[in-house]
Amino acid sequence: MDFELSEEHRMIKDLMARFVQDELMPLENTVLAREASGGGYLLTPEEKAPIDARSKELGLWGLDAPPEFGGSDLPVMAMVGIEEEKGKTITPYTLPPDSPNLRMLMNTCNEEQKKQYLEPYARGELTSAIAISEPNAGGDPAGMMTRAVRDGDDWVINGRKIWVSRMGHADFTILMAVTDKAKGARGGISAFLLDKGTPGFNVLRRIPMLGGAYTYELTFEDCRIPASKLLGREGYGFAPMQQRLSTRRVQMAAWCTGMAQRALDMMIEYAPQRVTFGLPLSERQAVQWWITDAATKIHACRLMTYDAAWKIDRGEEPRNEVAMIKVYSTEMAWEIIDHAMQTFGGMGMTKELPLQMMANRVRLMRVYEGPTEVHKMVIARRLIGKR
Ligand SMILES: Cc1cc2nc3c(=O)[nH]c(=O)nc-3n(C[C@H](O)[C@H](O)[C@H](O)COP(=O)(O)OP(=O)(O)OC[C@H]3O[C@@H](n4cnc5c(N)ncnc54)[C@H](O)[C@@H]3O)c2cc1C
Repeated sequence: MDFELSEEHRMIKDLMARFVQDELMPLENTVLAREASGGGYLLTPEEKAPIDARSKELGLWGLDAPPEFGGSDLPVMAMVGIEEEKGKTITPYTLPPDSPNLRMLMNTCNEEQKKQYLEPYARGELTSAIAISEPNAGGDPAGMMTRAVRDGDDWVINGRKIWVSRMGHADFTILMAVTDKAKGARGGISAFLLDKGTPGFNVLRRIPMLGGAYTYELTFEDCRIPASKLLGREGYGFAPMQQRLSTRRVQMAAWCTGMAQRALDMMIEYAPQRVTFGLPLSERQAVQWWITDAATKIHACRLMTYDAAWKIDRGEEPRNEVAMIKVYSTEMAWEIIDHAMQTFGGMGMTKELPLQMMANRVRLMRVYEGPTEVHKMVIARRLIGKR
């Protein structure tokens, strides 16, 4: 195992670090103030446009997209470093295209769908969402009820989805639906491409989440789409969906490493300056141990994330390792950010520091892409099953 980044990949990571420092960090105070005053956790179009232009100019678009669509086709190992840098800022910005749906489209699109969806998506011209979760099937998506029934040359969809991110600006949505109830996740769940505004595809409500984020509840009422909107093989949508979730989980582990590193850096800078009861906080064993434990866990998390990425790049499917880093990274970042907030005392409780926003983001991450407890169950089942 050699986790040393190549010269080229190290340069891209450094470029990303500078982009975060120069373009995204300066917007943090504005973003925090807007969220604190109820204006949402977002960038305005006026703030986003110059960042889009700058990141495109720097060659940061399509980093893991195929070269035929103008992408750089970077391996997951290289993407981990880039995502870690991205995790250090709370300014909400996604370098186009968002990797998870890109991976799923690359694994499933036919030639016609490549032209209509994958190519413009890879070039950053289209945005997308994915609708898997339902009111009675979230942590256990195999229990989904939304049905797609074949009717001549069409599919007719009925059902309900919830907690769907990015719907506010998605040009199309990857929808998971049951096409054969008896087979369930083993040959009975399919993926579909739904364009924004398709009749019968309704956005029921926008749900405010922690930290100024939003998700959406959707209903499908006799939503009729042509057969050509089936994505991949009928009944076999679950496996590419799982691969998509794995892509996000590796990304999340890298974001958590970056976030935890920033919280640690803030603790290290502040603790020597703050004197209580005649001594700086950095002289207190409680704070020293928080710092030591944080550095140790960040180191472990970073290595585990590179290990999973290295295995994915070798063509393996390290599902246990990916589940482990999903759990470890989110729980680790939650603890380290909490200790950083505690170190800052009253200041750590304000909406003026990025720490509370980092805590909110990680709190969401402990649930989405599978809650901690579900991953632990799945890991244990695999381990016990192996014996
Ligand atoms: C911010 C955010 C964004 C999201 N974005 C999307 C999206 O874009 N698209 C989409 O489809 N979904 C999305 N989701 C949904 C998300 O994937 C689900 O919320 C998640 O999988 C949990 O499902 P659930 O809410 O139904 O919880 P449940 O499955 O009801 O679980 C509730 C709790 O029960 C416990 N639990 C559940 N099962 C077990 C078990 N077997 N053993 C032990 N404990 C267990 C866990 O603590 C879990 O948190 C998002 C969620 C959030 C919070």
